[in-house]
Amino acid sequence: MTTDGPVIELREVCRDFRRPRTSLREAPPVVHAVRGVSLSVERGERVGIVGESGSGKSTLLRMICGLDRPSSGEIIIDGRPVHDQSARRLGWLREQLQLVFQDPMSSLDPRMRVRDIVAEPLVAQGRRDGNADRVTELLERVGLSAEAGDRYPHQFSGGQRQRISVARALAPDPDILVADEPVSALDVSVRAQVLNLIDEVVEAYHLSLVFVSHDLSVVRHVCDRVAVMRRGEIVEVAPTEQLFADPQHEYTRSLVAAIPDLQSALAGRTARDLAQGVADGL
Ligand code: ADP
Ligand code: MG
Repeated sequence: MTTDGPVIELREVCRDFRRPRTSLREAPPVVHAVRGVSLSVERGERVGIVGESGSGKSTLLRMICGLDRPSSGEIIIDGRPVHDQSARRLGWLREQLQLVFQDPMSSLDPRMRVRDIVAEPLVAQGRRDGNADRVTELLERVGLSAEAGDRYPHQFSGGQRQRISVARALAPDPDILVADEPVSALDVSVRAQVLNLIDEVVEAYHLSLVFVSHDLSVVRHVCDRVAVMRRGEIVEVAPTEQLFADPQHEYTRSLVAAIPDLQSALAGRTARDLAQGVADGL
C-alpha cells in the first residue's frame, strides 16, 4: 500500500522502563529511555539518528519496527498505526520494513546456510517458488557470488556477513530499510565498503532509510537529514550539511567538534601500531 505523506511519522513517542526495585521502601526507578520524540521521514528520504550510547536510539528503532511498544505517543508507518498493534497484527510491516543490526554474528543463525538465511523473510511470507533465483540475484547485488549461498556465516569476514544481512533485508522487497549501528562492529577499513553498499541499494531500490549511529561522521556519508538524540530527546534535526556547517545545539556542536579529534586519534594509533609492528620485526 502506498499513501501520500511521510512514510514514517513519530508523534510524541515516549518509552519508560522500570528498573528492578533496589529497596522495599522506594518506588522502582523509572528510566525515560525515549522522551517525546516527534519526527517524520519522507518517502525516499535517508534520516540519520545520532547520539551517545544510552541516548535511546535503539529503543526508538525497536518501536518503529514494532518490536516494542511506546508508553505513549503514536507511530504511523505508511499511514498505518504501529504503536497499538500486537506483533501478530504487524505481518504487513515485515514486508514493508526490514532491519540490519550491528552485529551480524548474533543476527545470522550460524547453523543455517547463507542461501536459507537470505531466503528466510520470503519463506516467512509463505513464498516458496522462485526463491533460489531471487537469492542468487541478491547475493550478486551485494557483491557476493552465488556460491556464497552454500556456505555458513562463520566462513565469512565481518564485512561480508554484513553484506549477507543487507541481502536478507532486501529479500522481501521492502520500502524502508532500518539500520542500527550497521558498521560499528566492523574494521575501519571495511566500514566504507559497507556504507557504500547501503548507499547503493537505497538508491537502486528507492528505499527510505533510518540509520542509527553513535558516530556522526558515519551518518554524514549516507543521510540527507540528521536527528541528534540526547537522553531520550531529539535536540536538533537538520539537513546533513547544514548540521555540520552550522550546528545549533551545544550538544551537536560538541559532536561535530569531536570528529577531527577522533580521526586524528585513530590515525595516531595506527601510526603507533605500525611503528610497534616495525619494532617487533613484523
Ligand atoms: P542507545 O541505543 O542510544 O545506546 P538504548 O535505546 O539502548 O540507547 O537505551 C536507552 C536507555 O534505556 C538506557 O539507559 C538503557 O539502559 C535503557 N534501556 C533500554 N532497554 C531497556 C530495557 N529493556 N529495560 C530497562 N532499561 C532499558
Ligand atoms: Mg543502541
